[in-house]
Amino acid sequence: MKGYAMLGIGKTGWIEKERPACGPLDAICRPIAVAPCTSDVHTVWEGAIGERSDMILGHEAVGEVVEVGNMVKDFKPGDKVLIPAITPDWSSLEAQDGYPMHSGGMLGGWKFSNFKDGVFGEFFHVNDADGNLALLPDGVDPADACMLSDMVPTGFHGSELAQVEFGDTVCVVGIGPVGLMGVAGAALRGASYIYAVGSRPDCVRIAKEYGATDIINYKDGDIAQQVLEKTNGRGVDKVITAGGGTEVIETAVKMLKPGGRIGNINYFGGEDYLRIPRAEWGVGMGHKVIVGGLMPAGRLRMQKLASLLVTKRLDTSKLLTHRFEGFDKIEEALMLMKEKPSNLIKPVVLINW
Ligand code: NAD
Ligand code: ZN
Repeated sequence: MKGYAMLGIGKTGWIEKERPACGPLDAICRPIAVAPCTSDVHTVWEGAIGERSDMILGHEAVGEVVEVGNMVKDFKPGDKVLIPAITPDWSSLEAQDGYPMHSGGMLGGWKFSNFKDGVFGEFFHVNDADGNLALLPDGVDPADACMLSDMVPTGFHGSELAQVEFGDTVCVVGIGPVGLMGVAGAALRGASYIYAVGSRPDCVRIAKEYGATDIINYKDGDIAQQVLEKTNGRGVDKVITAGGGTEVIETAVKMLKPGGRIGNINYFGGEDYLRIPRAEWGVGMGHKVIVGGLMPAGRLRMQKLASLLVTKRLDTSKLLTHRFEGFDKIEEALMLMKEKPSNLIKPVVLINW
């Protein structure tokens, strides 16, 4: 089979591989909609997870099941399914402990395009099919549903980590596709003021459509200072960090009120340490909580997220600024993600076999 792969740090290309084998609990799927991710760019061009050779990329897909193992109960060939970016081993101790995304070790649920071939192949393997797959609901567009693999669960996890509650004031730092889902998630959880930090016109417009009440532009001065001014010096209840480098944690601490929470969903590359500003962290006693997490997945979670598309409480089509047709277009879509033209939010590739 053919797949679009990381050949080494900074190098990608089409390769031929054996079709993956299906274990008793697993499924083999082929993609019908896939999307490249900022994480693929971090992985290939920043070497963020280290060297990989001939590893098929991609972790965001809607697919069709072509084969299941003999112990799989609830899926069969021909089913159209949602495939989460994170596919834990649900019988692991970490999953039983409430952290399935870390099954088998830190970040161990992140298997596609990390420890094994991803979804940019003609076929791909899904471990623990009954635990990880979910049926694509009737009437939901596969391109829209493809945003349920990673953008929605990750962005929403920002507001879960920050524990956004009714009436909270929330700042979302970074409004790429993940941050935009952070805005949408905070709005759905009942935030009152949502300050979205960003400058690209399309992202700003869509952030407002998803519920941002105010836009903070870094070109107008220090971000934390602007948020403090808007909150009469009090700071926000919650911050979701979904863009920028390691300095965003420092920024977030500065704009947070005592007792507030920061939910980080960034994937930090580059520097080895994050800095916490001592004074704004209450010289160690400010009750400002910082928590970061990899998206939760699993069949139930995916079904629940999909029901937000069915009931039209969430419209992911606003994220899809660039559409491609055909498996061969995966390369073009990934290169677009790498180049990031200013009107790009998320490309999607639809595949009709
Ligand atoms: P993106 O690059 O499209 O969006 C980030 C946005 O933040 C950009 O618009 C950028 O201009 C902006 N930005 C950069 N520096 C900033 C700053 N200092 N202040 C405010 N905004 C700033 O990326 P994305 O696809 O939206 O993903 C966001 C982050 O989430 C990435 O780090 C990605 O790797 C990570 N991610 C995490 C998970 C997870 O499970 N936790 C999953 C997917 C992606
Ligand atoms: Zn992704």
